[in-house]
Amino acid sequence: MLPAPYDELHRRLGSFITRERLITDPLRRLAWGSDASFYRLVPKLVVVAESEAEVQRLLEHCAQLRTPVTFRAAGTSLSGQALSDSVLVLLGDGWRKLQIADDTLTITLQPGVIGGVANRRLAPLGRKIGPDPASIDTAMIGGIAANNASGMCCGTAQNSYHTLAGIRVVLANGTLLDTRDPTSREAFMVRQPDLANSLAELGRSTRADESLAARIRHKFRLKNTTGYSLNALVEFSDPLDILAHLMIGSEGTLGFISEITYFTVEEHAHKASALILFDRLETACSAVTRLKSAPVAAVELLDRASLRSVQDKPGMPDALRTLPPDGAALLVETRAATAAALLVKIEAITRQLASTALATPLRFTTDAEESAALWNVRKGMFPAVGAMRPTGTTVIIEDVAFPVERLAEATLELQQLLQEHGYREAIIYGHALEGNLHFVFTQDFGSAAEVERYSRFMDDVCTMVVKKYDGSLKAEHGTGRNMAPYVEMEWGAPAFALMQRIKALFDPQGLLNPGVILNSDPQSHLKNLKPLPAADVLVDKCIECGFCEPKCPSRGLTLSPRQRIVGWREIARLDAAGTEPQRSGELKQLYDYHGIETCAACGLCATACPVGIETGLLIKALRGRRAGPLARKVADIAARNYAPLTAGVRLGLGAADLVHGVVGTGAMKGALDGLRKASGGRLPKWSPALARPVNFVPRPAPPQHAERVVYFPSCAARNMGAQRGHDGVEMLPSVAERLFQRAGFDVLYPSSLAGQCCGQPFESKGLVDAANLKSAELEAALRDASEGGRWPIVFDTSPCAYRMKRYVADRLKIQDSIEFVHDAVLPRVTLTPQPQAVAVHPVCSVRKMGTVDKLMAIAARCSAQVVATDEVQCCGFAGDRGFIRPELNEHALRHLKASLPAGCASGYSTSRTCEIGLSEQAAFAYQSILYLVERCSAGSGSR
Ligand SMILES: Cc1cc2nc3c(=O)[nH]c(=O)nc-3n(C[C@H](O)[C@H](O)[C@H](O)COP(=O)(O)OP(=O)(O)OC[C@H]3O[C@@H](n4cnc5c(N)ncnc54)[C@H](O)[C@@H]3O)c2cc1C
Ligand code: SF4
Ligand code: SF4
Repeated sequence: MLPAPYDELHRRLGSFITRERLITDPLRRLAWGSDASFYRLVPKLVVVAESEAEVQRLLEHCAQLRTPVTFRAAGTSLSGQALSDSVLVLLGDGWRKLQIADDTLTITLQPGVIGGVANRRLAPLGRKIGPDPASIDTAMIGGIAANNASGMCCGTAQNSYHTLAGIRVVLANGTLLDTRDPTSREAFMVRQPDLANSLAELGRSTRADESLAARIRHKFRLKNTTGYSLNALVEFSDPLDILAHLMIGSEGTLGFISEITYFTVEEHAHKASALILFDRLETACSAVTRLKSAPVAAVELLDRASLRSVQDKPGMPDALRTLPPDGAALLVETRAATAAALLVKIEAITRQLASTALATPLRFTTDAEESAALWNVRKGMFPAVGAMRPTGTTVIIEDVAFPVERLAEATLELQQLLQEHGYREAIIYGHALEGNLHFVFTQDFGSAAEVERYSRFMDDVCTMVVKKYDGSLKAEHGTGRNMAPYVEMEWGAPAFALMQRIKALFDPQGLLNPGVILNSDPQSHLKNLKPLPAADVLVDKCIECGFCEPKCPSRGLTLSPRQRIVGWREIARLDAAGTEPQRSGELKQLYDYHGIETCAACGLCATACPVGIETGLLIKALRGRRAGPLARKVADIAARNYAPLTAGVRLGLGAADLVHGVVGTGAMKGALDGLRKASGGRLPKWSPALARPVNFVPRPAPPQHAERVVYFPSCAARNMGAQRGHDGVEMLPSVAERLFQRAGFDVLYPSSLAGQCCGQPFESKGLVDAANLKSAELEAALRDASEGGRWPIVFDTSPCAYRMKRYVADRLKIQDSIEFVHDAVLPRVTLTPQPQAVAVHPVCSVRKMGTVDKLMAIAARCSAQVVATDEVQCCGFAGDRGFIRPELNEHALRHLKASLPAGCASGYSTSRTCEIGLSEQAAFAYQSILYLVERCSAGSGSR
């Protein structure tokens, strides 16, 4: 039961927003109560909005009921601005429009587009969006614009404010304005004359006040996201242009951004990087001043402590370890349209630094891998501190800017301040050309004394940055709750009064993201601090950054990886305290479905996590604990009787197929969906794409070739054939065998094949002992068959290959079929590519093994048009989970069909169960890539 007035709001919203999009359960509200900052506020109601019209109506109702509203994009904010204890509005699937103008000079984006997605679409055109936060592969346009986020290259010239071509916004009272549309502009002037006139007047009076105007211009010579974008008042006279630019950096406190058009910027293909070492920080900073006029795209300053934290990482020069205690480094990048132009730029930079004392000779690299290693180390610095922090503490990143000519002095003073306040592990690095420094330190908020220490430190930092250097307290991360108490200190009373006026004009009731940017409570930055209790060693290092979320198939259906951790942390905290057993019980009950049941255990979260956390491992461990001794016993029996068990599965598949054949797809689906519903979801789902049973039994063949391969057809490949309606499709092992023979390999099989399994089906349920039992049996059989590893060992199913690779480590070399076909088969057969388009889906294990490129290369040799969709990561089928929790598969693949071009009627992958899920959602059959290669090489014979 929701408290008033949220019960009424819920009722009203229910008239135009479906029930599933109004989230009220305590687990998911808690999960949405965290962003990447160290604050937590739990919303009373979470609303997933799908359209502008919904946002308009929602805002109207919130205004009537006086319920505050916060908008949320990807929730990677670091200053606590994506949180609410009232109504939190999320962006559903309806906000992903991305349109590049024909001349490529502008791009129109809805707020739910991830920045990196926009850049991947622009890259082939030699363009990108201007703002470049390090979080760009997670952060969405709504948040990037509303925070005026920026990064290593964009400086002040290419942020959202300066690359804004037009914007579409919904104001607090539901009014819509599209600054790109003359009719909308006119209508706005009629509907909101007071706001328009007041903004025009505010602009006029600010420009007329010379000292205030000069102060504003002076402040924005540096990167600055403290307070509102007051530069709009001095740079524009048209009230709607002022409005558009005030929206940038307004952190959801002035209105909702429903679409934005950016001017794109050049993205040069040729790049060179250099890590330049200095014996003294002062020398590095004076080099920065010189580089200001050199053709550099990015210059990152790294202090000695930050270098120490990464000096043992791969790709780091040895000289780093011997750098003196007050040494520093600059990581420099330069870019050009051609290789020749790049050389000219490198020479210019080298000349510029000719008289500077460097600790080692200057060396630029154009090697993409070497450069990526350097930049990845830089990008990983914040998480690196997070990963090293003691459990229970939080990692804080601050974000200040100083006049670049005083960078050395300011950095040394900052180092001193950190030491004085006992933050000995702190590191400092930043975008040197802008004087923008980040300092990262760990903080315990578990005691009043520690909170007090943090408070004193913040007071001292703010005083130093503002009073001594007239710098910015937030250069790019946004004011949020964290810096709200210091906005007046930084800007002074007249500018602060302007900000209050702006807020009152846009949001007279103060309902949009209250407490953010402007906050009358001087202690607000010390309240609502997020607890980070020990929960499980598998996830204790999580910094709740949210980088894992775009990878997760259950995100938006139930919980994301970050939210699974948030939920489990709270349960652990409650259990440790023992004071609220009822709440803990309620959360656990909800966690069972949202956290445990609907995790695909795909592990893709680990591929994006800066501290290497695989949330799926926690979930598998919890599944194991939940299973209990009886389930473990049953698993043990199943593992030891695997051949009869799979025979039983074949029987079941056969029976289902028989009935399917008799009653037809419609009746079968209707009846079984009904039965599944009646069972409360306990009966597995039936799919028309379900495999028909096969039973692969290897037939010994006389030796024909000098070379051999040990081929392990997975349980799925041995027992699951093509779906009904695809008669005549051979079972996979027969096709694979013929292909390998064609490439000149005799095919061997491990002994007792019918009972062999890699253990994956057990592992995904957390039944580790049974899983390892099967892996051990299979390892022994593979060792025998391969004569101790003399012959290559190949798996046709990628998840099984991945499991066995990890299990056998370097005791035997296991290859996935992708690797074997790419490296050993393709060079030995002649391929005739087919003209038809093919869709290719790299399953999660392929992504984790790093063989996506090889899979795509194989497909490209077989078809002139290979379609790989960025929209889909994990298919969510997850072995047998797709039968028990089909909603996960449906949700994960909800964009699949729309992303496939017309005319694409066949799909390829490397896991039979994933193919069942893909086939159902794409409405055409997916099968193993081996079928495609075998077919395209059919005329060739071996070479
Ligand atoms: C590891 C790490 C590194 C980071 N590096 C950088 C960096 O280099 N530079 C940088 O600037 N930031 C950085 N950030 C901070 C953050 O990622 C960025 O500011 C990012 O742009 C926020 O985008 P988001 O989609 O996560 O927005 P959210 O956090 O969801 O929201 C940000 C703000 O925008 C508002 N908002 C969201 N959508 C809308 C909308 N449609 N209309 C109006 N208001 C809206 C929200 O209310 C909130 O106030 C980093 C964060 C992390 C965790
Ligand atoms: S699991 Fe990793 S990526 Fe996900 S929120 Fe935690 S630290 Fe970030
Ligand atoms: S293992 Fe897969 S489904 Fe589970 S949390 Fe990670 S990404 Fe999501």
